[in-house]
Amino acid sequence: MMRALLLRWITAIMLSAATLAGVASSRAEAQSEFMRGDRMPYDAFDRLRKTDIDVPNGVIHVGFAPGEMALPKDKILDWVKMSSRAISTYYGRFPVDSLRLLLVPVDGPRVRGGTTWGYRGAAIRVTIGRDASEDDLKRDWVMVHEMVHTALPDLDDRYGWLSEGLAVYIEPIARVQAGDLTAREIWHAMARDMPKGLPQAGDRGLDNTDTWGRKYWGGAMFCLLADVEIRKATNNKLGLQDAMRGVIAAGGNHEKDWTIERVLSTADKAVGVDVLTRLHNEMGPKPVTPDLATLWRELGVRMNGESVAFDDSAPLAAIRKAITERR
Ligand SMILES: [Zn+2]
Repeated sequence: MMRALLLRWITAIMLSAATLAGVASSRAEAQSEFMRGDRMPYDAFDRLRKTDIDVPNGVIHVGFAPGEMALPKDKILDWVKMSSRAISTYYGRFPVDSLRLLLVPVDGPRVRGGTTWGYRGAAIRVTIGRDASEDDLKRDWVMVHEMVHTALPDLDDRYGWLSEGLAVYIEPIARVQAGDLTAREIWHAMARDMPKGLPQAGDRGLDNTDTWGRKYWGGAMFCLLADVEIRKATNNKLGLQDAMRGVIAAGGNHEKDWTIERVLSTADKAVGVDVLTRLHNEMGPKPVTPDLATLWRELGVRMNGESVAFDDSAPLAAIRKAITERR
């Protein structure tokens, strides 16, 4: 499923770029201001009429850029609510007090792509196909992915692997915890796609290798390894989820600029071990190739064609279950 997701994501970017060009050249000026440039159009957004959605500890201000949509507004707002529920389930609250969410209709089906900003208050822009169906929205991962970004302080560009890695790793777990996906689907996707994050020839560690595979899947691999190590060190009582909740509890979110050291040590402190800092010291400056086959075997995840079989007698089976357990 994740491969399909990522292909869709790449497609989304390419389609967005194509649409962007189309918008700039032929569409009404009113719409282009919502898509022009690579910044959030805060001023234009603030002029739109908004619908507010209450979330635990916060509010989402939803604005629709001009343009027709096949689905009624209610259905689109339901999708925003469903996505925010997954995020609040994972983090124990919504990561920011106030989020500006701009939805921009573009030609075609499905949800196309998203971007998150923090520098003038947390903001997300998502492009959504005019012909998107209810089913497209139910299966969409883009909204939850972008909302995961709101939970992490803004880091220096070279640590994009941590930001994207957390989003790739947490998005499906949050959706399983909220009841929107099955654990089987996401472990299958992880076992199939995680090897894309392994270092290739010439790799200089996560901090110094700016490739798509290392940024998204290398980052996700870091998160999975950290989750398992935190759980091993705490008798499976705490995990990455508790560590990242600790960042929010300490006032960290995407509206703040933090160093990676501060993010990792704050997260470590919340779970009482130094797993994240230690793992970054190992994997940041040099290529590290973990034995993924052994990890899947120990977690009790066996690839079985288009699905996986779970082995509950495997040594880390309890950790695998705890990762997707709602808490
Ligand atoms: Zn992202």
